[in-house]
Amino acid sequence: MSSNNTTIPFATVRHFNIVVIGAGQAGLSAAGTLHRRGLVSGKDFAVLDGNQGPGGAWRHRWNALTLGRAHGVHDLPGFPLDNPDTWRPASQVVGEYYGAYEQHLGLEVIRPAKVKAVTQPQHELFYIATDGADFTANAVINATGTWETPNIPYYHGLEHFTGKQWHTKTFRDVEDFRNQRVLVVGGGASSTQFLMMLEKVTDHTVWVSRSLPRWNPEHFSPDWGRRVEERVTTLVTAGKAPRSVVSNTGLALNTESLDFINRGVLVFRGFIDSFGSDHVTLNGPGPDGATINSQGPAVDDLLRAGDPRLAQMHRNTEILPGHGTDIHHQWVTPIDSILWGTGFQHSLGHFDPLGIRSVHGGVVVDKDGVTIPAAPGVFLVGYGASASTIGATRAGRKAAVAAIDHLGQSTESNVTYRKLF
Ligand SMILES: Cc1cc2nc3c(=O)[nH]c(=O)nc-3n(C[C@H](O)[C@H](O)[C@H](O)COP(=O)(O)OP(=O)(O)OC[C@H]3O[C@@H](n4cnc5c(N)ncnc54)[C@H](O)[C@@H]3O)c2cc1C
Repeated sequence: MSSNNTTIPFATVRHFNIVVIGAGQAGLSAAGTLHRRGLVSGKDFAVLDGNQGPGGAWRHRWNALTLGRAHGVHDLPGFPLDNPDTWRPASQVVGEYYGAYEQHLGLEVIRPAKVKAVTQPQHELFYIATDGADFTANAVINATGTWETPNIPYYHGLEHFTGKQWHTKTFRDVEDFRNQRVLVVGGGASSTQFLMMLEKVTDHTVWVSRSLPRWNPEHFSPDWGRRVEERVTTLVTAGKAPRSVVSNTGLALNTESLDFINRGVLVFRGFIDSFGSDHVTLNGPGPDGATINSQGPAVDDLLRAGDPRLAQMHRNTEILPGHGTDIHHQWVTPIDSILWGTGFQHSLGHFDPLGIRSVHGGVVVDKDGVTIPAAPGVFLVGYGASASTIGATRAGRKAAVAAIDHLGQSTESNVTYRKLF
């Protein structure tokens, strides 16, 4: 786990008892708890962040994503968001909110500072190398989220596709897709939101994913949220990689989504087989481009029952342009661009030198959700069950307390600065 050959240049490295990596919801929650427990920002602990300014991943989200369209941002500890403007871009509202929190607590956030590697040159000492200055710490709270590691799956022939490709991370404005034939890939909330927005600028979208839509008619309640958290916790405590968000939560089947399904906008067209320079070959639309395959169990049930809310779905769903193939009843349809709504992975590459990944591809996390048994002194926040603003807030608090415990020191105001050099 530790490497012994790192030379620490004495003068250029700043030491803190605790370093928090990331100033999104998770990192700020942890930093706020450290502050309230009496640790001094810029002396006992530091927050490093790769961004140019406050807001975490929210500062990069597209303008049409308002808080009215998001699931909602949970309050940071002791600092209510009150009544945010639900019409302004969430990137601005949340950026300002996080910035105000940093000022309110007098947090010194060192930015932009992108952490490249965390090593452990000595027992109980972590060495944190960034693209600027380097740091050492006795404990590291990692809150780097997922935004920096978009997930784009590979399909046969993708390298020959000559159209433009976008991902949730690079999506800015539906105007970039005006009158284009757009393949939207992914079964999560980003993809369904994109399809609903694209309706305004193009009549030709094709929705595909690696599995059938997981429409979920269940009301998203606190009880439901707890059950989702329990499921994810079971996965990550076994060291398995957290699955996609939608495989845990499903897609909200509500009045709005039913309307878009009925209008032929949110209609799932099948699975990708391969790509060519200007087309995709699909398993799904049948030999005539017209087959409407399964829409996932919840919607199939409504269709079978003749639910009036979906009475026009078949009529409103376009026959895909293109041609069939001789084999496997596949359908080749022309596309101009691909919008990958295929999610993200946790941004943890800087911990590779510590070897924290399990053989199952995840990181084994203790039952508390933040402690990593394989790397005592490293705490993960915003990982697995805490990858939401509410989960990140709770986990941030827990990680801060666990990091203080790890130092084995008083949680009162006079934290002793460890003289390491
Ligand atoms: C499109 C989209 C919409 C969402 N909507 C909601 C919603 O409405 N409600 C909700 O609860 N959740 C939502 N989520 C999930 C949401 O991202 C999380 O809930 C939460 O904001 C993540 O907070 P975080 O602090 O873990 O990560 P982030 O906000 O991603 O913050 C991580 C910070 O770490 C920094 N960082 C990353 N790597 C490094 C590095 N190597 N060195 C230094 N700094 C680094 C980043 O620059 C960033 O500032 C959404 C996710 C997506 C993708």
